[in-house]
Amino acid sequence: MKYVYGPVPSRRLGKSLGIDLLPSKTCNFQCVYCQLGKTTHFTNTRTNFFPKEEVMGEIRTAINQFESETDYITFVGSGEPTLYKDLEDLIVFTKEVSKRPICVITNGALLYDPEVRNALMLADVVLPSLDAGNEKLFIKINRPHPSIKFDEMIQGFQDFRKKFKGKFWIEVMLMKGINDSKSQLLELKEKIDVLMPDRIDINVPIRPPAEKWVELPDKNILSLLNEVFGEYSDIHFPEMGKFYLYSTDFEKEFLSIIERHPMRQDQIIETFRSQSLNQEEIIQRLKALEEQKKIENIFYNNQIFWRLRVKK
Ligand code: SF4
Repeated sequence: MKYVYGPVPSRRLGKSLGIDLLPSKTCNFQCVYCQLGKTTHFTNTRTNFFPKEEVMGEIRTAINQFESETDYITFVGSGEPTLYKDLEDLIVFTKEVSKRPICVITNGALLYDPEVRNALMLADVVLPSLDAGNEKLFIKINRPHPSIKFDEMIQGFQDFRKKFKGKFWIEVMLMKGINDSKSQLLELKEKIDVLMPDRIDINVPIRPPAEKWVELPDKNILSLLNEVFGEYSDIHFPEMGKFYLYSTDFEKEFLSIIERHPMRQDQIIETFRSQSLNQEEIIQRLKALEEQKKIENIFYNNQIFWRLRVKK
């Protein structure tokens, strides 16, 4: 499958069937914490990166095969999904072929565009991220495309929220010494309060970030989060669970998952051991892919992660 992957375990969504509409790392942000590495296709122009009929064909096939094992169908992936011009048509189509709820995970930047707001109105859950309460910090963390302005983006969030009937969950990435001071959190909360989200997920960079200097906040951040976010606060840690495989071709399946979702080595072993490979054979295959310069490993937060090799 080229556009559909999973179901993969998700911290928030249970078993999520992912739909990825973009060439690898296409985004209008270049977040310092991005787990997919540096943005290689930096754009704010909406276009159909792949023919939508092809994407629809794969959605139909994957739903036929995996619907019973799917909790959510999620538009997410190798970048910012709202950059796909006909996203609305794809959501309408997915609703026609499946009764499973639809989620869109987005950086929210394009919510200032009425066409994007209309498309996302059709989803059951919209999960935008917001990491900063002011423009200066927004630029420092998210490094947006120059055509994206913080105030317009926040206005877009508000306009969308006023009309959206589904669940609106905000995601915040918290990083040590970047956006974890009390004053920064209070400023961010002010913006979030206006949006009245159904839930806030406060995450920390548990996977290797785009920039090496990004660090996890200290553990004592929890009391500050409780103080600032009170009952909103919902801290999440690494997901557990099983990745679903479409075939027994290790290389194809493994590369397809890590293109969107870097994996810990223990997760890889757990996932592929069921395919009659033992731990040693899996590690040998990882080393072979590394020698072919297809993947790279990163030691981060005391664990080994594997991800697609970042093209320099
Ligand atoms: S974290 Fe999301 S929004 Fe930020 S650069 Fe990566 S893909 Fe884009």
